[in-house]
Amino acid sequence: MLKLEDTYLHKGKRKALVALLREKGIKSESVLDAINNLPRHFFFDSALVSHAYEDKAFPIGEGQTISQPYTVAFQTELLDIKPGNKVLEIGTGSGYQGTILHLLGAEVYSIEYQKKLYEGTKRFLTRLGIEMNLFYGDGSEGLAAHAPYDKILVTAGAPVVPNSLLKQLKIGGTLVIPVGDRKTQAMLRLTKKSQKQIIREEFDGFAFVPLLGKDGWR
Ligand code: SAM
Repeated sequence: MLKLEDTYLHKGKRKALVALLREKGIKSESVLDAINNLPRHFFFDSALVSHAYEDKAFPIGEGQTISQPYTVAFQTELLDIKPGNKVLEIGTGSGYQGTILHLLGAEVYSIEYQKKLYEGTKRFLTRLGIEMNLFYGDGSEGLAAHAPYDKILVTAGAPVVPNSLLKQLKIGGTLVIPVGDRKTQAMLRLTKKSQKQIIREEFDGFAFVPLLGKDGWR
């Protein structure tokens, strides 16, 4: 079993990572604080743990990855989480991104397509004492049973914006989703001003594993 030890060495590496994220343009102090406070190495396989504070994505099993810290910070900053926000994350993976949302005061619902990852992460977050609503299944159509959400975050690359996700967003809510081909995507921030008006912002240069499932890549 992995030892959950957070040493001065880890804390120092995390501080350096936060300084790098700041240099790369992340401005939200609450997001930077959450990254500074959460030991990313807890979410790593023991064989890769020495890489936990590199600004890179790493394998977490089942052909999936824990996202690059810059990407986590960028997506979280775009979401502009307020304490008490009800947030749906699609792609639980290691649980790292969901835990960042939790530390920012969100009520987190997170769904994962790979059963082994879902089961492993559920066990691990329980051990950490992190309260999160975890689900196993295809999140490409969202999670209608618990909608509507203040914010929805997709952490895998989609071919298009699934309509169901916009439907499950409250008025005034925000959807952050990478959309593109199977290798590279633009990050979209869609703000639902009314049932008919969606404001769209686009940021280039991201590379996610594909969003699978009915409204994803088949
Ligand atoms: N947020 C994760 C973390 O903090 O470790 C990183 C996630 S990884 C980049 C993308 C995740 O999306 C993978 O775990 C993958 O299995 C999951 N995924 C892909 N398609 C999905 C779908 N239709 N529904 C739910 N999860 C999906």
